[in-house]
Amino acid sequence: MSHLSSQGRIALLPDPLDEEQRTLQQSILTFAQRELGHDLDRRDHERDFPREDWRKCARLGLLGMPIPSAYGGLDVSATTIAAALEGLGYGCPDNGLIFALNAQMWACELPIVHFGTEEQKRHWLPGLCDGSLIAAHGMTEPESGSDAFALRTLATPREGGGWLLNGSKTFVTNAPDSDVFIVFATTDRSLGFAGLCAFVLERGTPGLEVGSPFSKMGLRTSHLGEVFLNDCEVPPESLLGEPGGGMAIFNTSMRWERSLILAAAVGTMRRQLERCIAYARERVQFGTPIGSFQAVSHPLAKMRLRLQTSHLMLYRIAALLDAGTATDLDAAMTKLHLSEALVKSSLDALQIHGGSGYVTESGLERDVRDALGSRIYSGTSEMQHNVIARHLGL
Ligand SMILES: Cc1cc2nc3c(=O)[nH]c(=O)nc-3n(C[C@H](O)[C@H](O)[C@H](O)COP(=O)(O)OP(=O)(O)OC[C@H]3O[C@@H](n4cnc5c(N)ncnc54)[C@H](O)[C@@H]3O)c2cc1C
Repeated sequence: MSHLSSQGRIALLPDPLDEEQRTLQQSILTFAQRELGHDLDRRDHERDFPREDWRKCARLGLLGMPIPSAYGGLDVSATTIAAALEGLGYGCPDNGLIFALNAQMWACELPIVHFGTEEQKRHWLPGLCDGSLIAAHGMTEPESGSDAFALRTLATPREGGGWLLNGSKTFVTNAPDSDVFIVFATTDRSLGFAGLCAFVLERGTPGLEVGSPFSKMGLRTSHLGEVFLNDCEVPPESLLGEPGGGMAIFNTSMRWERSLILAAAVGTMRRQLERCIAYARERVQFGTPIGSFQAVSHPLAKMRLRLQTSHLMLYRIAALLDAGTATDLDAAMTKLHLSEALVKSSLDALQIHGGSGYVTESGLERDVRDALGSRIYSGTSEMQHNVIARHLGL
C-alpha cells in the first residue's frame, strides 16, 4: 500500500534518520513488543510500578542515552534518542513506564550532567544509568504549580557548612520509588530568582519523608507522590551548581524535557493510527466497512495529519538540540503540539472503535487516560501558550 513503509508501518517522510538510527529504532521497537507491558491491565488497575521492565530498559541502555560514557551512559545525540523513544512508544503499551523513564532522564540525570561536580557525577550517574537507582525531581509545591518559582521550601545555611531544608513538594513523579531526589528551594524568598537553589538528596537522609503514591487517572504504573522536608540536614556537597543557580538548572531541564518527553507519543500515535485503519477496513456496519463513512475516515485523516506534524516537530527540535540552538520557544511549541495531538488522536482512536474501544482490554481507554496528563505535566498547555505569546511580544 502506498501509505505504508516496507515494514508495513505508516511511512513518515522526510525520514531524518540514518541507517544506524533506523536499525536502533527497530530493535527497540521489537524489544518493547516482546519484553515490556505484560500484565498491563492488572498493573494499571493496581497501580503497580513495573520495576523489572525498568531494569530491562536500563540493561538496554535506554536510561543512559543522554549520559556521557565516562559515567555509564551511551552519550548519543538527541536525534538518536528521539528515534529510540519513538520506537519505544510504538512497541510498549505501558505509557506509565515510558513516562517514568523520561522523568528521570530529563529532570534528574541531565541536571547532574550539566551542573554537577565531578564527584556528584561519579556518585550518581552510573546507578541512574544501570537502573539500580530511581530518581525524582521535586519543584511543584502545594502553593506553587504553574507559578513554580514562587516556591516556599526554605534552604538555610548551617553554621559549619551544609544546609537545613524545610518545606514540601507534591506531584513528584517516581517519588514513592526513588532513591535520589533533586529538590528546589529558596535561600530567601525576597531574593526572587537569585535565591533559588537545587539539591541532590539521598533517600534515608534524616528529615526527608516520602508520601504514599497518589491514586490518579492515568499513567498509573508510574507513581506520583509527595516529598516532605522537615529540618532536613544536608551536607554542602548536596548543593547542585552554585547557590542561586536553581533557575538555570530548572530551565535547562525543562528545555530538554519539553522537547523530548513526548517523543514516544509519536510512536504511540503511529500505532494507534495503523490499528484504527485496520479496524475501519474490517468492521462492517450497514453492509459496508465503517471506513467508508466520512465520519470515520475524516478523524483518521486528522490522526494522519497530527502524526505527520508531530513527527516533523519532534525531529526538528532534536536537530536543534544537537546543534545547541533549541530555545524555550521551540521546546514549548513541541510540547504543546505533541501533547494536544496525543490527546485528540487517543480520543479519536477510542471513538472509531465504538464500544470495544471503551472496554479496558482494548488498551484504548487507557491511552486516553494516560494522554490527558501530558496537558499538565512539565508545564500545562496554558503555560506553553503563555511562553509562545511572550515570544510574540505579548
Ligand atoms: C502526571 C503528572 C506528573 C508530574 N510530575 C511532576 C514532577 O515530577 N515534578 C514536579 O515538580 N511536578 C510534577 N507535576 C506537577 C506539574 O508540573 C503541575 O501540576 C503543573 O505545573 C500545574 O501546576 P498545578 O497543578 O499547581 O496547577 P495550577 O498552577 O494551580 O493551575 C491550575 C490551572 O490554572 C491554569 N493557569 C495557572 N496559571 C496560569 C497562567 N498564568 N495563565 C494561564 N493559565 C494558568 C493552569 O494551566 C491550570 O489549568 C506533575 C503533574 C502531573 C499531572
